[in-house]
Amino acid sequence: MSVSGLCQICESRPAQARCENCGALVCEKHFDRGLGLCADCAAQARPGEQPDDTDIHRF
Ligand SMILES: [Zn+2]
Ligand SMILES: [Zn+2]
Repeated sequence: MSVSGLCQICESRPAQARCENCGALVCEKHFDRGLGLCADCAAQARPGEQPDDTDIHRF
């Protein structure tokens, strides 16, 4: 890998990938290979699991 530098999220592990959205260099832990996005962008890109519905008890 030619990527050098530290992960821009945790700043403690060597960056191994670049986010396709914001261009941030992130480590393997903070890179979503499926989406090609950093953890921050991946969290925003996902539709968001809506916590309700399953918690509502219908009688
Ligand atoms: Zn990291
Ligand atoms: Zn990103």
